[in-house]
Amino acid sequence: MSSLSHDETLMGRALDLATRALESGDVPVGAVVVDADGTVIGEGWNARERDGDPTAHAEVVALRSAAQARGEWRLEGCSLVVTLEPCTMCAGALVLARVSRLVFGAYDDKAGAVGSLWDVVRDRRLNHRPEVRAGVRAEEASAQLLAFFAEHR
Ligand SMILES: [Zn+2]
Repeated sequence: MSSLSHDETLMGRALDLATRALESGDVPVGAVVVDADGTVIGEGWNARERDGDPTAHAEVVALRSAAQARGEWRLEGCSLVVTLEPCTMCAGALVLARVSRLVFGAYDDKAGAVGSLWDVVRDRRLNHRPEVRAGVRAEEASAQLLAFFAEHR
């Protein structure tokens, strides 16, 4: 059995998906949605450039594919695992999808909405607040992003 926890293993999958974004010159961010049994039901990577779509962030793409797989928009009991701290849109989307748990890698001090600039998912005024685990394989996620921006600046 692997010594990595399930979160770490899923983050490995998200890191692999993030590299797919590079094919279209998109910022490498990857995400997976797993159900309560730990089965992957949705995957996504950032495809803004590829699709010419400002909302095609990895998390939104993964949530859409998970909802399609489940046949409904409610993703209660599911976890979203993403390489980078979600922005306001994605944090809002995962709350609306009623995702139970969020796991992310690197913090995003320029746009993060799960602790960095805002804390959309743990706002006490919301009645649905997912559990959050931050910093999973953060060094690898940061390295991937830094390599991309070093090349595209
Ligand atoms: Zn986003």
